[in-house]
Amino acid sequence: MSSDLYGRTERLELSDQNLREFEAVVLDSTPDGIVLSRSAFYPGGGGQPADHGVLLWLGVETRIAGVRKGDDLYLIPAEGDPVPPVGTVVRAAVSDERRSALMRTHSGLHVLCGVVFRDYGSLVTGGNMEPFAARMDFNLPEVPPGFKEAVEDACNAEVSADRRIDIRVLPRKEAFDIPDIIRTATNLVPEEVEEVRIVDIVGLDTQADGGTHVGSTAQIGRIKVTKIESKGKGFRRLRIAISD
Ligand SMILES: [Zn+2]
Repeated sequence: MSSDLYGRTERLELSDQNLREFEAVVLDSTPDGIVLSRSAFYPGGGGQPADHGVLLWLGVETRIAGVRKGDDLYLIPAEGDPVPPVGTVVRAAVSDERRSALMRTHSGLHVLCGVVFRDYGSLVTGGNMEPFAARMDFNLPEVPPGFKEAVEDACNAEVSADRRIDIRVLPRKEAFDIPDIIRTATNLVPEEVEEVRIVDIVGLDTQADGGTHVGSTAQIGRIKVTKIESKGKGFRRLRIAISD
């Protein structure tokens, strides 16, 4: 699948979000970055930060502290760690604790986005996340009384409803025929992209999105709206925390 290729690296996490261990061949290697033939490390994007993890080769461990997107996908080794030579077959492991937390948090943000659009008609203008904490910016001129509690209750009702979260890849034209896709204005897909990955919280929220998500809303856990900030005319920033 050409759409799952970044530079020379086949991106395994796009089609299997639960994959944490894999084998690959080293295509390029410097202390600034390691390029693998295939990788399940999420490289960062759409507000979701990059994965961490390790590469194991010939009895040596290289810790991976991040990912850099250039002409290729570069796994960034921890400072001072030895790097595997080109041609080495490495066994790689993505940190499950960090990734699983980010999947729950990212899906939680989509629930928030779906709820605020459905109940208040507000469009998302930006967002960002760390494990178990996230923010999302909305265009919302008025904050009605009881807004914070109402949004939090509605989000947790969607978690309890345990809605399926489906991933599918559609041709560009077909994807943009889905009426809701265009509403995440910050998620504009570049012209040259012919296939669009869709994250669908069935019955609540459908977005073009390259991130990793849990399989259903119950896996998110509890969503707490921790803060609402006014950042200017009609610009509200909602902060959420995710817990068990
Ligand atoms: Zn997203």
